[in-house]
Amino acid sequence: MFDLERIRRDTPAADTTVFLDSAGSSLPPQPVVDTAVAHLRREAEVGGYRAANERMSDLAAVKTSIGTLIGARASDIALSDSATRAWSDFFYSIPLTKGDRILLCEVEYASNAIAALQRAAAVGAVVEFVPSDPTGQIDLDALEKMLDDSVRVVSLVHAPTNGGLVNPAREVAELAHRHGALVLLDACQSIGQLRVDVEELGVDALSATGRKWLRGPRGTGFLYLRPELASSLEPPALDLHSAQWMSESEYRLAPDVTRFEFWECDVAARLALGTAVDYLLDIGIDNVADAVAERADHLRTALRGVRGVTVLDLGERKSGIVSFTVDGFAPTDVRDALAEKNVTVTVSHRRSTLVDMTQRGLDAVVRASPHYFVTFAQLDEMVETLRAL
Ligand SMILES: *Cc1c(COP(=O)(O)O)cnc(C)c1O
Repeated sequence: MFDLERIRRDTPAADTTVFLDSAGSSLPPQPVVDTAVAHLRREAEVGGYRAANERMSDLAAVKTSIGTLIGARASDIALSDSATRAWSDFFYSIPLTKGDRILLCEVEYASNAIAALQRAAAVGAVVEFVPSDPTGQIDLDALEKMLDDSVRVVSLVHAPTNGGLVNPAREVAELAHRHGALVLLDACQSIGQLRVDVEELGVDALSATGRKWLRGPRGTGFLYLRPELASSLEPPALDLHSAQWMSESEYRLAPDVTRFEFWECDVAARLALGTAVDYLLDIGIDNVADAVAERADHLRTALRGVRGVTVLDLGERKSGIVSFTVDGFAPTDVRDALAEKNVTVTVSHRRSTLVDMTQRGLDAVVRASPHYFVTFAQLDEMVETLRAL
């Protein structure tokens, strides 16, 4: 177990509001805020270059912490300014030619799908969606049938943005690798709330964001790459950090995963991301996962008891995202009504997860995502507020 009292003291707003949007942009704990603010102040005293030089070892430690969290080495991680950037930096560097196939999942995130469609159109590749099985997770039998030597990459969303599903990443990686396809895992909604170990899952690349379940600052994210891959792929955009200018006609790529990073970055945010990961490691990811699962289960059960509410989460295995609709109310109206009572939830729209939402005939859902710092009493308070609608 962990010290919920102390954690809630570190998160003052957790007392004054019922905060249920860690899948959107969570409340960072005080040490994360302090790290960022202290660095900005230091930049104002000595300038950004000296301020960064003073924190070189702490900056390097950010990758070590992320590596500890996901079972990778620091040298397998590139820091980024969003998960989308991390995802597309990898995706756009995969060599593709005419006739190559790109497999996406039905709960694919819009930004990933748009990038895949753009590249496919540019090179004459094909984008196909692997169907979901009756439980809502990716259909492994269907995937197996679709796989052949023309599939270059399988993109899998570990946990979608619009509901509580968790996809079986290890099984997908095993199948894809039998046919030589790369597996890119979008772990935006799983990192920070579930144990994610890249060795165990066997994925080739993983993208994640800082501001969601990790409770880090906005404008942060990272890419994990299997070590052999980093040195064999060339990102489409380079700078003087990802490559070195050798002569009037030559440049040389960085030998490792830093070829997926640009030089300029928000140093304060990066340091604060490191603090966020350390904060999580200190609580323990298994403690966090248990606490999130208990809260999400509690909320789903309570919501099922409210007349007019339909809980919509798919999947055998569930994440901390609770999605639902309320008869007679638009999801945005539910969100706004709850906001008036100091309860923060968000709405997930069809355009973010187009294929899945279209297939289920959904235009939008209310999304509640309780992190470990939310109390059960607050969840009950949210349900009572909803009942009063
Ligand atoms: C939020 C989200 C993203 C995008 O993350 P950014 O940091 O905003 O780029 C990608 N995939 C999923 C499943 C998400 O929920």
